[in-house]
This record gives sequence, C-alpha cells and structure tokens, in this order.
Amino acid sequence: MKNLFYIALILGIQLSFSQEEKPPNIILMIGDGMGLSHISAGMYANGNRTVLEEFEYVGLSKTHSLNYLITDSAASATAMASGVKTLNKVVGMDGDNNKQKTILEICKEKDYNVGLVVTSEIVHATPACFYANNQSRYDYEDIALQLSKHSVDLFVGGGEDFFNKRKDKRNLLEEMSTYTFVSDLAEFNNSSSKKIGFFTYPGEPPSKNQGREPSLDSLTEISLKKISKDKSFFIMIEGSQIDWGAHDNSLNYILSEYKEFDLAISKALDFAKADGNTLVIVTADHETGGLSLSGGNVNRSRVRADFTSGGHTGSMVPVFSFGPYSELFRGIYENTAIFDKMLSAVNGKR
Ligand code: MG
Ligand code: ZN
Repeated sequence: MKNLFYIALILGIQLSFSQEEKPPNIILMIGDGMGLSHISAGMYANGNRTVLEEFEYVGLSKTHSLNYLITDSAASATAMASGVKTLNKVVGMDGDNNKQKTILEICKEKDYNVGLVVTSEIVHATPACFYANNQSRYDYEDIALQLSKHSVDLFVGGGEDFFNKRKDKRNLLEEMSTYTFVSDLAEFNNSSSKKIGFFTYPGEPPSKNQGREPSLDSLTEISLKKISKDKSFFIMIEGSQIDWGAHDNSLNYILSEYKEFDLAISKALDFAKADGNTLVIVTADHETGGLSLSGGNVNRSRVRADFTSGGHTGSMVPVFSFGPYSELFRGIYENTAIFDKMLSAVNGKR
C-alpha cells in the first residue's frame, strides 16, 4: 500500500512536469524612458485607464549602470538582455569587453522563434543589445552588419539606410538571402516567409504625432501571429520614443507615444490570455525627464507635468508581469534580474 502511494506520487510529479514541457513564450515590452510618472500621465490622459491595471504582479527595477547612477539605454538593455551591468554606451558586453550571450540567443538555441519590433531604428541601442556586441551603441553600421548575420527570425523597425547605404558600399539586404523583406503592413501580414525583415523607414521613424505608420499595436498583433505559428517564441517589443518625448520635455509627445504603447500592450495581453502559456513583461530601461505630475483634471483627462531634466534620471522603474512565471517578477531587484527571471522561465524553474 505504501509502495502504491509512492508510485502515484512519482507518477503525479512526472505528469506535472510533462504538462509544463512546452517552454513558455516570452513577450518583453520595453517603454524606453517610461517611468511611473509617464504611465500615470498616460493613464489620466486616457480616462484614468491603462491596460497595465490588468497585470498580475508589479515589481521595481534598479536601473543604475556599472559606472553611473544614471544609466543610458545601452547599459540598461544589456542588463536586461544578458544579465550583466556594464558601462554606459556599451552594447552586449560586460565592463571588461567580454561579449555576452542574450536571452534572445539562449531562446534561439532552445529552438524558439525570436523577434524584435521597435519604433526607433532597428540598430538603436535597445534592440541592438539583444543581438550585437559593440563598445559603442553609435557604431550603427557594424551593429547592422551583426544583425545581418544573426539568427533573428522577425524584425521590424527603421534604419534601412544602415544596411544598403553604407560607407563600405556593401548591400546587406542582398547578403541577407534567407530573409523576405516586406515594405508595408499588408505585405507583412500576407508573407508566409519564416524569416522576415520589415524596415518601416529608411532612417529614424517619425513620432506618432508626426504620423508614424504602421501603428505599434498592428505590428504587435501581426508579429505575434507570425512568430507563434509553429513553436515557442521570444519577442522584444519597444515603445522607443517615449524617451525621445521626455528628452524634448514634451508632454504631448510622451502621451501620444504612451497611448500607442498601451494599445500594443493590449494586443500582447489579448494574445497571452488566449494562449495560456505566454509570459508578458512590461518595463522600462530608465526614467527620462524627471517627470512629475503637477496638476490636471481626472474627469477631463487632462494632465499637467513638470520636468526636472532633459536627460535620464535614477529612479527605479516598474515591472508589470502576466502569465506563467509572472510571480517571479515581484519585489525590488536589479535590472539584471529581469534576465535571470526570464531565464528561469525558459528553463522551467520557479
Ligand atoms: Mg530605446
Ligand atoms: Zn534617452
């Protein structure tokens, strides 16, 4: 009798393992420069609502870099992508210039589909830290060259000129023979290619206020449909220009970028709810602008804001999580722990 109990116990454990055998999908969404005040302003300007209220857990991330209390986007994306603190401006390397493997690359080794969708250039610091290694985030042509040789399955962003209008005269688009390049949302939606590149703009995409198309929420919806087709996936989706609006100390710029990012988060959350095996993490790389809400009217969806900086600040930033392993993201931790926690999820460790 006792033996039967143990056999049942063992079988039960094996059953629970096999149910979790398919590793979880991960959607990492980074609002560049998106501090708590940016979210609060976006929420009050949107009828006191944000989709972030639907998330299961909230944590706080410490954003300082290896050499400064105030990080830049490269050091902080390297921390989240690879789990190491590094110097400002460094992409995908530690403080001694050792190249780091990224969560995207680890997922690819585990046979995931992997993708990147951004509203900046695809070679900009935040996405670059998921596929490139360079001592300078501004070495855009080298970063483009590294993307051209990488195993990213799907990418969307601006910056095509770094691939086909280069100082070295190479045309990387021709060298990237395994990719299908699409040029608008309909082509993107209709393509059945396994590897897709979508350059939304030849250079830096304009702001939402200036008419940037396609919208990040449409891109998110279509990208998730494509990347989830046959296997588990990792995707990083960035609302890149919340930071740029804050550098400009323009509340209107921030609000329009945040509004679009909030809609994109809705698409990710809808997907995760329907799928059941998708972890969604929404966070920021740092706060920008030292933004504070100094007045407004809740009923009229009006906010007034003051800025204390034209650059980044050192405040912790929130981390919202939903889905399997989301409980790991509670508490206060270094930004490097975001990598550790995603790795735990991919390895099935709680
Ligand atoms: Mg960025
Ligand atoms: Zn910035």
